[in-house]
Amino acid sequence: MAQYFEIKAVNPGYLLFYRMGDFYELFFEDAEVASAALGIVLTKRGTHLGQPIGMCGVPIHAANDYLNKLIKLGHRVAICEQMEDPAEAKKRGSKSVVKRDVVRLVTPGTLTEDDHLDARSSNYLAALSMVRHGETDFALAWADISTGETFVADLTAAELADEMARIDPAELLLTDATRALLTERHLYPPAWLPIATIIETVDSEVAMPLLRQAFAADLFDPTSLSRASRAALGALVGYVGESQKGRRAPLRPPVTEATGTTMAIDAATRSSLEILQTQRGQSKGSLRHAIDLTVTAPGARLLASRLAAPLRDSKAINRRLDAVSRLVDDTLLRARLRTDLKAAPDLARALSRLALERGGPRDLACAGEAIAAALDLAEQLGRQPDLPENLQKLTATLAAAPRDLATELAAALDDDLPLLSRDGGFVRPAYDGRLDEERALGSETRAVVAALQARLMDETDMRSLKIKHNGVLGFFVEVPAAHGAKLLEAPFRETFIHRQTLANCMRFTTTELAELEGRIAQAHGAALDIELSIFTRLREAVLAQTLGLQALADALAELDVTAALAEVSATRAYCRPQVDDSLAFAIMGGRHPVVELMVKTEGQSFVANHADLSGSEGEGGGSLWLVTGPNMGGKSTFLRQNALIAILAQMGCYVPAESAHIGVVDRLFSRVGASDDIAHGRSTFMVEMVETAAILNRATRRSLVVLDEIGRGTATFDGLSIAWAAVEALHETTGCRALFATHFHELTSLAKTLSRVSNVTMKVREWEGEVVFLHEVGPGAADRSYGIQVARLAGLPDPVIARAKQVLDVLEQRSVGTASSKDKASVLDDLPLFAHRPAPAEKAKDVVHEALDTIRPDEMTPREAIEALYHLKKIR
Ligand code: ADP
Repeated sequence: MAQYFEIKAVNPGYLLFYRMGDFYELFFEDAEVASAALGIVLTKRGTHLGQPIGMCGVPIHAANDYLNKLIKLGHRVAICEQMEDPAEAKKRGSKSVVKRDVVRLVTPGTLTEDDHLDARSSNYLAALSMVRHGETDFALAWADISTGETFVADLTAAELADEMARIDPAELLLTDATRALLTERHLYPPAWLPIATIIETVDSEVAMPLLRQAFAADLFDPTSLSRASRAALGALVGYVGESQKGRRAPLRPPVTEATGTTMAIDAATRSSLEILQTQRGQSKGSLRHAIDLTVTAPGARLLASRLAAPLRDSKAINRRLDAVSRLVDDTLLRARLRTDLKAAPDLARALSRLALERGGPRDLACAGEAIAAALDLAEQLGRQPDLPENLQKLTATLAAAPRDLATELAAALDDDLPLLSRDGGFVRPAYDGRLDEERALGSETRAVVAALQARLMDETDMRSLKIKHNGVLGFFVEVPAAHGAKLLEAPFRETFIHRQTLANCMRFTTTELAELEGRIAQAHGAALDIELSIFTRLREAVLAQTLGLQALADALAELDVTAALAEVSATRAYCRPQVDDSLAFAIMGGRHPVVELMVKTEGQSFVANHADLSGSEGEGGGSLWLVTGPNMGGKSTFLRQNALIAILAQMGCYVPAESAHIGVVDRLFSRVGASDDIAHGRSTFMVEMVETAAILNRATRRSLVVLDEIGRGTATFDGLSIAWAAVEALHETTGCRALFATHFHELTSLAKTLSRVSNVTMKVREWEGEVVFLHEVGPGAADRSYGIQVARLAGLPDPVIARAKQVLDVLEQRSVGTASSKDKASVLDDLPLFAHRPAPAEKAKDVVHEALDTIRPDEMTPREAIEALYHLKKIR
C-alpha cells in the first residue's frame, strides 16, 4: 500500500492501472469509478485505516479494450508496470516488494495504438498559450503523436475559435489563467469543456530547452517563433514527454501555419455544411463521406485535413487541380496507381509506435512494404511524359525511398508475423546463421527426446510410456497408474525419479531427460536473444531514416488523395473549376455532392441549378441573390451546394457542375438549418443574432456568405427589419458574394433599389390541389409560401389544415394594401370562432354530440324543442 500511495500521489487526476501479475488492479475511488464505467465487479481486499479497500481489476490481455473505453469516456489513465521480475524482489528478502513505476500516461491526445485510434482520422493534442501586450495574442501548437505531424500558429482571439474548429483536437492544454480570460470574454465555447486539460504553466523561457531537445537544430530554430508560439509548443512537447515517460515521440519539425493561407471557416459554418461530419456527429451524410474514395488510411486523413482547410492561393489550388486533372484524363494510370496504393500500409503510425518502443515485427514490415509500394509507384509515374509539377515532386520523393532498407527487412522478416517481438518467431530462416543453428539445436533435441522415449519403452517394456511436456513440470515421463508401481521398484527406481501421482497416471523424470530439457530451454533462450537483437538492429535502422520515411508517408498519402479526387471527379461527372483571383462565382448546372447521391439511391434525379454571384471591384463587389420559395422547395440544398462547391474547388477537387468559375473565397460563412444552443442557455434567436453579427463584422469583399432566413425567431416585423438591414449591409458595406434565403417576401423589393441584388425562386407547380416541388431555381420571387400544403404533407390534422386555410384566406383578402400589424390584428378579430370538430372516434363517446345529431329543429314542435333543450342540459 505504501508503494501504491507513493505512485498514486505523483499522478493525481489519473486512474492508476497498478500491475499485479496478470492483472492491472485499481483501488479505492479509482476502483469505484472504473467498475462503474466498465461494468466490472467491485470487490474488497484488505483494509486501510479500518475500512475495507475497494478493488477491481482488468486482465492484461484485455487491458487495451478497457483502456479504450475509459479514454472514450473522458478518463485519463496512468499505467504502472512491474519493473523487475518478482523473483528479483524475493532475492532481496521475503518482505521485499516488486519495483513498480508508471511507464505511460494515457490521455485522449496521446494515443498511439491502432486499437485506440480511428485509422482514417487524425488525433491531435493541442496546447494554447496567451501573451498580453496591449491586445492579447494567442498561439496554438498541435501535434498528432501517432504520426508525428506538428504545427504551430500565432492567432488573434477571433481566429482562435476558427482554428480550433478546424483542428478539432482530442485534447486541449491550457492554463487556468488562459481559461479564465477566455471565459470572461465569451471566447470559451462549451465544446472545449470536455477536452480541456489544465496545465500549470506555459512559458516561453521554460520552453526553449524543451524545444532544443525535441527538434534537431538544423531542421528547426525555436527562436524564429513568437513568444506565444514558443510557449505553446513548449507546453505541448513537455506534456508529450511527461506522458511517454522518457520515450521520445517522433515529433516532426513544426510547420508554422500562417493564418491567411487557408479559407477561414468558422465552427458554425463547418457544422452547417456538414463537412467532416453531420450535425448529428455521423460520418455518413457528410461531404467527406461522399467524396472519400481514398484507398489508404493516411490518404483518408490527408483528405479530411484538406477538406477542413481549403486553400486561398489560386496558384497552389491550380497546381493541385493540374495533378488531379492528369489522373482524371488517364483512366488506366489512375487505376494502376490506386491498385498499387492499396499495398501501402500506414507507415507514419508504425514509425511512431517503433519510436515509442511499442512497435512490433509488423511495424517493421510496414516500413518495408511502404518502401516497396513507393518504388513501384515511382516507376509507374516515372514512365509518364509531361507530369504536372505536383506529380513530378511526388515521383521524386517516392523514387528516393531507401530500397536497401526494404531489401534488408524483406530478407529478415518472415511472412507471417506476430504482433509482438517478445516471443520471437519472426525472423526468416536462413537470414542469420547463428539463429538457424540454435533453432536446429532446438528441433534436433526434440528428435533426441523421441529417441529417448523409444529407448525407455524398450527398457521398461511399457508400450504406454510417453514423454510429455507441460508448463509446470517441463518434460516428464508418463505411464498409466497401473504400471507406475513397477517404476518405483528396482531396477527402475535407479533411473526414474517420481514427480507426481494423478488419478490415472504417474509422472517421472530421469537425469538424461532433465539434461535434455536444459539444452532445449537454452537453445530456445539463445534463439530468442538473437531474434530480439535482430529486432533492435532493424528498428534502429528504420528509425535512423525517420525523416525520410515520414516524407515518404506524406507522398503516399498525397498520391492517394490526388488519385481519389480524380476518381470522384471522373466517375461523377464533376468539372474542373476555373479558379482565379477575380470576384467571380458563376456555377452553371451546379449540384449538391451529398444530396445528389442520396436522391440517386432513391431512383430520382437531382435537378442542377445555376448560380451567378459574380461581381467586380468596380461594381462595388459581388452580387447577392435573394432566394424565396416554399419550404421543402430546395432552398437549403441550393444554398449549401454552392458553399460546398467553393470548398471542393479550393481544396483542389473538381466540382459537381457543368462549369464553374470561382474567384478565390477568403472566408466562408454558412448559416443554414436550425442551430439550437438552448442547452447552453441561448435561444435560437440569440444564437442567430450572434452569428449574424459575426458575419457582418468579419466578412470581406472576397467572402462567400450563405444565409438562411435570418430573423425567424422573433416577431415578424422585428425579423423583417433585421433581415432587411442585414441585406443592405452585405450589399453596401461588405460587397461579398451572397445567397440569402428568406420567407419575408417583402425583402424582394430590395432588388429594385440595390443594383447587385437579384431575386430567384424555387419553382413549384400546383396540381390537383397538391404542390409539386420542381427544385428548380428561376428568376423572380415566390408569390406564396405553400406553408399550408407542406404542413399537410407533414401530416398536420385535417381540421387544423382547414382552419389554417380559412385564416389565410381572410388575411390575404383583407390585408391587400394594409401593412401594419394592427390592421392584421383587427382583421383576425373579425374571424368567426374556430369551430373545432372532434374526430369521429371521440364523437362516438360524446353523448351530447350524439343527442345533438338526432335533433332535427325543422321537424320539431316548440314543445319538443323545449324538451330536447332540458334533455341536453341534463346529460351534459
Ligand atoms: P428547403 O430548404 O427549401 O426547405 P431543402 O433544400 O431542405 O428545402 O430540400 C428538401 C428536399 O428536396 C431535400 O431533402 C431533397 O431530397 C430534395 N431536393 C432539394 N433540392 C433538390 C434538387 N435540386 N434536386 C432533387 N431533389 C432536391
